[in-house]
Amino acid sequence: MAALTMASSPTVLMRLVASAYSVAHRAGTIVRNVMAGGDLDIVEKCGPSDLQTKADRLVQMSICSSLARKFPRVTIIGEEDLPSQDVDEELIEDGQCEEILKKAFPPQYNSIKEEELVVWVDPLDGTKEYTEGLLDHVTVLIGIAYEGKAIAGVINQPFYNYEAGADAVLGRTIWGVLGLGAFGFQLKEVPAGKHIITTTRSHSSKLVNDCISAMHPDSVVRVGGAGNKIIQLIEGKASAYVFASPGCKKWDTCAPEAVLHAVGGKLSDIHGNPLNYNKEVKHMNSAGVLATLRNFDYYASRVPESVKQALVP
Ligand code: AMP
Ligand code: MG
Ligand code: MG
Repeated sequence: MAALTMASSPTVLMRLVASAYSVAHRAGTIVRNVMAGGDLDIVEKCGPSDLQTKADRLVQMSICSSLARKFPRVTIIGEEDLPSQDVDEELIEDGQCEEILKKAFPPQYNSIKEEELVVWVDPLDGTKEYTEGLLDHVTVLIGIAYEGKAIAGVINQPFYNYEAGADAVLGRTIWGVLGLGAFGFQLKEVPAGKHIITTTRSHSSKLVNDCISAMHPDSVVRVGGAGNKIIQLIEGKASAYVFASPGCKKWDTCAPEAVLHAVGGKLSDIHGNPLNYNKEVKHMNSAGVLATLRNFDYYASRVPESVKQALVP
């Protein structure tokens, strides 16, 4: 009998990343449409710097319901606390990115089962900036974890190109898988010897600033969003993301970490400890965030003892 060579069917992880790509793309459209509609319907969660808009709510419903339909055994954890309700069919995205399904994923992921995957969803990262019109700070984050580790991530930037004129195509989707690489952008490094730190613009504190000062950077770039700050690192605009404060949550860091790690960078807490993304973990990154594309130790070794003592994991 002649041996049949059949293309093997895509693994669960491949299908999940391919679906997450399409779902994130749809999310970007929702984020733009809500802004164009003019009514953000802003709700304060824990205060004036912790906001939720109609876009945060609609996008979370869209992402979580779309993925849950296709992957009912995956654990999906979204940022927003929403009342359980039937989701409008209009919000369901069924597509999957064919280009992702054609990639040769690392074989160590072949045996992963659906129920072993955890998806961390930040429907709109940089909400404060979204409400202030700093539109390119906004991202949609879908992170995928296995055995507590961020292994894949999709980042949609809905307003990428928004200052490029009326004809520019808005939005892009960056994605990456540990062991495979990251796509949808041009990897660039900060010029050698330059120390540019990116940090929060709306959640600063004495501790955050003390930590940055101790690193004697050439310059500090204050922008919103954890997703946006990882984009700064991989596109050569900043050399380190330093946030010596609680406030960032697992859905803020999972997708960005996976993309950064896929290109050889490192994201950890301020002590240099890896973050854990299993489904039982507490959501808050209590010991802050430190991330770099290169030269992680340069920054880690300059975190003051006093800052470390104030940030307990
Ligand atoms: P930022 O760099 O300030 O844009 O923060 C990155 C992410 O962490 C965003 O999703 C913020 O909402 C979140 N975050 C950071 N600090 C705080 C805080 N003090 N309270 C609420 N959310 C925070
Ligand atoms: Mg966020
Ligand atoms: Mg958010």
